[in-house]
Amino acid sequence: MLLRNRLLSLNLTSFLSPPFPPPKSASFLFSFDKTIAHSTHKRPESKPDMSASRAAKQPMSERARFAKTVLFVPPGVDPEDVTDEMILPGSNIVVGPYAGHSQIKEVEFVKSSGRAKDCPKDDRPEFAILGRSNVGKSSLINALVRKKEVALTSKKPGKTQLINHFLVNKSWYIVDLPGYGFARASDAARTDWSSFTKGYFLNRDTLVAVLLLIDASVPPQRIDLDCANWLGRNNIPMTFVFTKCDKLKASKGKRPDENIRDFQELIRENYKQHPAWIMTSSVTGLGRDELLLHLSQLRNYWDQ
Ligand code: GDP
Repeated sequence: MLLRNRLLSLNLTSFLSPPFPPPKSASFLFSFDKTIAHSTHKRPESKPDMSASRAAKQPMSERARFAKTVLFVPPGVDPEDVTDEMILPGSNIVVGPYAGHSQIKEVEFVKSSGRAKDCPKDDRPEFAILGRSNVGKSSLINALVRKKEVALTSKKPGKTQLINHFLVNKSWYIVDLPGYGFARASDAARTDWSSFTKGYFLNRDTLVAVLLLIDASVPPQRIDLDCANWLGRNNIPMTFVFTKCDKLKASKGKRPDENIRDFQELIRENYKQHPAWIMTSSVTGLGRDELLLHLSQLRNYWDQ
């Protein structure tokens, strides 16, 4: 289906094709390789103008407007120029010129911090990983770094309220944040979580984006929506990482793609431009390489 038709249909499920796990089609692999070849260690001389001066001269086309509203179009890409091959499968993420080396070669645990001001003080960029308990956060971190039990620190009794920094390739951090409780947690427990992490989100200058994990095998949960809305209201950049997308046939309820569509619809009205989102599975590896590529383009842009 052509990009234009996909956008005009305004049906988010259209972005969920191909089916899970997505076949690594020849055209996708080609565009993926091409993107890396064009962009590795090759940074534009100056930051691209995100206000799109070209668009200011002439009215934005219908195609570009839809691209800007529904897709995550990264810096350096004109919405007019987006093609199907530039969209990562199982996501709304367009790959741009900042995408580069993305694989994780080494990871080391650096420290656990009880307060934002105790976090590492170097200028390396970081991504915070956040989600409800049991969303699959530890599994995702372990799948990303291809190691078992990297993310277990936060699970030890008495260590649940810590911010855990893992240094990747000696150049950027994955930050494991405490899970924010079960859906039925009391209001008091939710407030505790938010007061603890609030300081981190609002004061951490090196935070590139929050990866907000959402369990795609269950219908949208109020606590996840509240968290997404809080981050949105505070202008914290985020990517929705939908987990457990391999659970094709849940014994009851809707399929992951339907839950994802419902979630998007519930938050859509709060955003002028839809945040990036991507489907993953720690069981099948779905979305792993794509998520890492996405992180590379956010990081490389931030690094400028
Ligand atoms: P955490 O509490 O957020 O760290 O969640 P865990 O990573 O411990 O996972 C919670 C449960 O979900 C465990 O039983 C995992 O085996 C399961 N799980 C995690 N990720 C996936 C996934 O991608 N697919 C499936 N089917 N199960 C998963």
